[in-house]
Amino acid sequence: MIIAIDGPAGAGKSTVTSVLAKELRFFRLDTGAIYRTVAYAAHRANLSASDPRIEPFVKALALTLRDGEVHLDGAPVGDLIRTPEMGPMASKYSASPYVRGALLVVQRNAVMGQDFIVDGRDIGTVVFPDAPVKIFLTASVDARAKRRW
Ligand code: C5P
Repeated sequence: MIIAIDGPAGAGKSTVTSVLAKELRFFRLDTGAIYRTVAYAAHRANLSASDPRIEPFVKALALTLRDGEVHLDGAPVGDLIRTPEMGPMASKYSASPYVRGALLVVQRNAVMGQDFIVDGRDIGTVVFPDAPVKIFLTASVDARAKRRW
């Protein structure tokens, strides 16, 4: 079973997702971490988001998920993707339709046959349109700004 959580930045998707995953004993897929890892790897390889080689690059990435954590080339990415630069960088790469297309498959394969709660942009609309539970989490602009701050 898939529970999909979408909504604007700063609404609290990650927080709600991790609390719910524990409560329900579901696995959690942090799609932001996947986008961050792609950004980290592509930047390291000197490939810009608009480079036509970005699609085969993402498809060939040795990106796996183990115990809810993203691994690159067999090693956990850990804090490498949690630096202040990596959020905006992930945003830049995530604007590429080639990156989004390649990650569609990665995200669908990651949850195969298990109970997962998944949060992130496009999750309920594009990635898991058939999820039986879809939540669009919102918050006031003030609350979102405060969370971000
Ligand atoms: O949630 P997090 O800050 O880790 O995500 C980093 C960036 O990756 C987001 O700001 C967004 O631009 C992108 N992203 C996305 N689609 C997702 C998850 C993240 O475009 N499903």
